Amino acid sequence: MSRVYNFSAGPAVLPEEVLREAQAEMLDYKGTGMSVMEMSHRSKAFDDIIREAEQDLRDLMHIPDNYRVLFLQGGASLQFAMIPMNLMKNRVADYIVTGQWAKKAYQEAQKYGKVNKIASSEDETFSYIPDCSDLNISPDADYVYICENNTIYGTKFKTLPNTKGKDLVADVSSCFLSEPVDVSRYALIYGGVQKNIGPAGMVIAIVRDDLITEDVLPGTPTMMKYKTHADAGSLYNTPNCYCIYMCGKVFKWLKRMGGLGEMKRRNEEKAKILYDFLDESKMFRGTVRKEDRSLMNVPFVTGDKELDAKFVKEAEAAGLVNLKGHRTVGGMRASIYNAMPKEGVEALVAFMKKFEEGNL
Ligand SMILES: *Cc1c(COP(=O)(O)O)cnc(C)c1O
Repeated sequence: MSRVYNFSAGPAVLPEEVLREAQAEMLDYKGTGMSVMEMSHRSKAFDDIIREAEQDLRDLMHIPDNYRVLFLQGGASLQFAMIPMNLMKNRVADYIVTGQWAKKAYQEAQKYGKVNKIASSEDETFSYIPDCSDLNISPDADYVYICENNTIYGTKFKTLPNTKGKDLVADVSSCFLSEPVDVSRYALIYGGVQKNIGPAGMVIAIVRDDLITEDVLPGTPTMMKYKTHADAGSLYNTPNCYCIYMCGKVFKWLKRMGGLGEMKRRNEEKAKILYDFLDESKMFRGTVRKEDRSLMNVPFVTGDKELDAKFVKEAEAAGLVNLKGHRTVGGMRASIYNAMPKEGVEALVAFMKKFEEGNL
C-alpha cells in the first residue's frame, strides 16, 4: 500500500487515523455484527452515532442552543435553492459575488425573488475580496449571502461583511472547521462536507431556530423545508448514514487534535510554508491579493501553460496528486485542508524548488 499526498479540492484527503478506524469497524461495528453501511437508520447503534456526531460538532464550534444542526443531502448546490425557499419572506436578498459558487447561488436565488448583487470581484477574475464595510444593503433584504472561502479562486473573507443588522448566510464548504468561528454572527452556516470534513454526499446546515418555520415559499417541497429535517432530527427520511458516521469520526479526531484553535494554528503554519515559497520563487506565483489569501486553497501559476502542465504531470509521478487548477482558471491549485499533514506541504514545496531549478 502506498498513500499519496492528495491536494484535491474535493472530495479530498481524510485523516489516515479515521480511515483506519473505519477499516477496523467495517465488518462488525461495536459488536453489532454488521457494518454501519448495513444498519437501519432507526437502530439504537445509529441513533448513538448521529447524536454523538451532532454533540461533538456543537462542542467543536461552540454552537449556541438556539441553533439547529441539520445533516442534509443534495450537496451544497441544493442549498442554493433551499436558502431562498426557506428564508425569502420578502422575496428580496443581497448577494456578494466572490467566485463561481457564490455566482451560482446568486443565479439560483433569482428564481425566487429580487436578488441584488451588492458587491463583486468578477472584474479581476475573483482574485480579491471586495470591501464590504459599507455596502448598499437593501432595506427589505431577507438576508445577505456570502461564500466565505472561495474554493476555486483561493480567497477568503478575513472579516465578515457589515450587513447592517440583516441576517448573514454563509457557504463555508471549503473552510468548515478550519478555524474557530462565532456562530452567533450568522443566521445560517452551511457547507458540503466533502471538502474539509468527510466523504461526499452530505451538507451540514447550522440554522438559527427562528428561521425554521412553516412560512416558506409556496410550492416548497417537503424535503426542502428546514423544518421537516429539524423536527425529525435529520431522520425524516434515510440520511446518508455512512457519511454521518465518518464525519462523526472526523469530529472526534479534531477534538483529539486540540479543537479548532489548534487547527487554525496548524493551518496557518502549513499555508505559510507554501505562500512564503510562492513569494520568493522566480518561477511560481500566487494568483490572489495577499490580504485575501485562503488557508485552504492555494492557486498558483508559472505564467506558462506548458510549464504548468509539465509541473502537474511530474508532481503526480512524485506522489503529489490533484494539483491541476480548476478548469475555469487553469494553472495549479493545492488544497491543504485540515487532514493534509505539514509533511505534505513541505514535500510539495521541496518538489517545486527542485522543479524550478531544473526548468529555469
Ligand atoms: C464544492 C463547493 C460547492 C458545491 O458543492 P456540491 O456539494 O458539489 O454541490 C459549493 N460551494 C463551495 C464553496 C464549494 O467549494
